[in-house]
Amino acid sequence: MKKTVRDIDVNGKKVIVRVDFNVPMKNGVITDDVRMTAALPTVSYLLENGAAVILMSHMGRPKGQPDHDYTLKPVADHLAELLDREVVFAASDLVVDETVRAMAKKLQPGQVMLLENLRFRPEEEKNGENFSKELASLAEIYVNDAFGTAHRAHSSTAGIASYLPAVSGFLIEKELQFLGQAVDQPKRPFVAILGGSKVSDKIAVIENLIEKADTIIIGGGMAYTFLKANGCEIGNSLCEEDRLELAKELQAKAQAKHVKFLLPVDSKLGDRFAEDCATMFAASREMPAGWMGLDIGPDTIRLYEEAVQTAGTVLWNGPMGVFEMDAFACGTKAVAVALAESDAVTVVGGGDSAAAIKKFGLEDKISHVSTGGGASLEYLEGRVLPGVAALEDK
Ligand code: AMP
Repeated sequence: MKKTVRDIDVNGKKVIVRVDFNVPMKNGVITDDVRMTAALPTVSYLLENGAAVILMSHMGRPKGQPDHDYTLKPVADHLAELLDREVVFAASDLVVDETVRAMAKKLQPGQVMLLENLRFRPEEEKNGENFSKELASLAEIYVNDAFGTAHRAHSSTAGIASYLPAVSGFLIEKELQFLGQAVDQPKRPFVAILGGSKVSDKIAVIENLIEKADTIIIGGGMAYTFLKANGCEIGNSLCEEDRLELAKELQAKAQAKHVKFLLPVDSKLGDRFAEDCATMFAASREMPAGWMGLDIGPDTIRLYEEAVQTAGTVLWNGPMGVFEMDAFACGTKAVAVALAESDAVTVVGGGDSAAAIKKFGLEDKISHVSTGGGASLEYLEGRVLPGVAALEDK
């Protein structure tokens, strides 16, 4: 267990907090502030408990040099509205310099300051020692609440923790609690639903979950590599020819561990990869040549819904079909709704499945939707996240 802001005295202290304010922007306007609102409980807690708060984040990919298209100034303005208090913006291309140090020194309990985009400095992504020290020099306590970048060892997520007492914020605490419980102490049966385009991206997740889950359900483009490995003709569906052996091995491993491994029994096919293509349904053993599987079919939906209905824990990562096209969004929507209606503990990995939950307006009906796509995937692979490992143990 990692220490959190609750485990240390922040009263009268300067606290530097790594948040994930990497928000989508269009023409200088923030189009979705959910990442900012997700950090508010930690920021408010620190302010209410007498800390002076210095926030830091990256935004976009400014290539390790100042690029004012990626300034955090609009984020500072919006944060001031959300917190209903002044937010001092430290507008320095160097992120930390003499002026910023002086501003930090002057900061009083209850005041908030936001640093400029961390990625204006090339050292940030290299976990540069000097930059880590520069950031640490601004404060007395370090808090990490940026789960979305916790799988990266950067100056602001890992290096800085060597120089200050380091604890997690509430967002990282919640992520670790839900992901950790789902994977390591699941209420059983534990059903893991994995989708997305490629088997190769999910091998480590599948291998890790074979050790932990009772049922593994496969959907999305990667299902067709498994189906072909099992002798089905899959037409023009996605297939990783060099993973056919692996697909067989993974199923054999699951069988040896008595883990149910469910593949689509039918699909919705298109005659091309396009929204306006001709469509048809076919059983997995009867897919015609020239067509491609772009979504799971109705019998598969029923099968997967049943597995969710009887589960104690459901973990979902990756869409069941090309959900960006309405014609092939049915399977993904059905799984999302099944999770929303289930009494099980439901945990959705970030990225596309989180986007799908949002698209269908079901966020409030899921136990936990992760804020970090890459980070949650690495966690599900059983890997240690550097941004978490750097924090102090309880
Ligand atoms: P990933 O990038 O691996 O997380 O996979 C997500 C992408 O997989 C989404 O953009 C989906 O459109 C795509 N996808 C899901 N199912 C299929 C499928 N059957 N064929 C092709 N692409 C798919």
